[in-house]
Amino acid sequence: MSYDYLVVGAGLFGSTFAYEAAKRGKRVKVIDKRKHIAGNIYTEKVDGINVHKYGAHIFHTNDKKIWDYVNQFVEFNRYTNSPVANYKGEIYNLPFNMNTFNKLWGVVTPAEAKQKIEQQKAAVNVENPKNLEEQAISLIGTDIYEKLIKGYTEKQWGRKATDLPNFIIKRLPVRFTYDNNYFNDKYQGIPVGGYTQIVEKMLDNELIDVELEKDFFENKNEYLKSFPKIVYTGMIDQFFNYQFGTLEYRSLSFENIKLNEENYQGNAVVNYTDAETPYTRIIEHKHFEFGTQPTTIITKEYPKKWFEGDEPYYPMNDKKNNEMFSKYHQLAKESPNVIFGGRLGLYKYYDMHQVIGAALTVVNQEFQ
Ligand code: FAD
Repeated sequence: MSYDYLVVGAGLFGSTFAYEAAKRGKRVKVIDKRKHIAGNIYTEKVDGINVHKYGAHIFHTNDKKIWDYVNQFVEFNRYTNSPVANYKGEIYNLPFNMNTFNKLWGVVTPAEAKQKIEQQKAAVNVENPKNLEEQAISLIGTDIYEKLIKGYTEKQWGRKATDLPNFIIKRLPVRFTYDNNYFNDKYQGIPVGGYTQIVEKMLDNELIDVELEKDFFENKNEYLKSFPKIVYTGMIDQFFNYQFGTLEYRSLSFENIKLNEENYQGNAVVNYTDAETPYTRIIEHKHFEFGTQPTTIITKEYPKKWFEGDEPYYPMNDKKNNEMFSKYHQLAKESPNVIFGGRLGLYKYYDMHQVIGAALTVVNQEFQ
């Protein structure tokens, strides 16, 4: 069969493109090196619980068009992300809001909370923050920094807050209301029955063929010759044989544990904000969908240094890597038959709503 497109990667970017291309009568072949579709939004049903295999995923957007777009594939529940922080056994609400301030200092009104924060900022009086620690203290004061930011951030980046650049924290979400909703977006939720089915539905078209456990690099030259156009969502540096060097990522490892109890932590997401606990978060998957199963599955999330061959999670968008990416991006622009997209193709952290938006922009350019 002759195809119009090869899509490398059955994640959200590749699948959105494939769906839209097939809707326009194009024949599409989708390959993925993994055993399953859906890329990092893949959820797997275990004991009736949809387990987020590549980290907790909460859909949120302010864009009604994107919200309507995903809702054509699946129904979303009313889940509201309200993580809690566990600092050495003390529990605080996130994002920082009146519940957090009340627990920390006993303050009751927004005016009292603001006064407390201002007092703490004035006591340290940092004028030109030189690193992340000084930046955070200058924004929020010492108590919140010490209990809720320092340990978590150091674990996440594997470096001391005093060795991290100040620009990592541009602003901190602070809310002077008793509102534990983490996101400010108008729409949020979790697909009833998990995320995988969104991609299943996108790829369910007779014009789309999917081949799993197929690595593009096993047959790169053959693919380039036989497909008129390729949508590539793998690592951009690998596509160009790492000729300018290897782009770096921060990685994660996940420890999944099944427990014979109904409710382990009472919330989907608990952040461990002290420096000693080796993981940053525990996810209890059933709470994303208000599960009532007799058992539960939790995942401990450990940040780690990325080595070539590890799963690349978060691009390290520092100066060195961004400059290297620009060189690859230039080569990409000079490859008219290959469209680079998604988080690995463009070396950029995208939330799900953003990756769908980016794919739809490419679709509009391609089929205008
Ligand atoms: P991917 O999902 O990574 O898909 C790329 C696919 O390409 C993969 O399946 C891969 O196997 C395949 N591939 C790569 N190279 C090759 C090759 N050589 N040959 C064949 N196949 C190849 N977003 C939110 O909106 N809310 C959240 O709460 C949220 N939480 C997140 C938590 C974590 C820990 C992480 C890492 C991300 C989170 N995201 C979240 C972001 C979300 O995962 C991404 O927006 C989305 O997965 C990006 O889709 P993609 O298609 O670009 O990439």
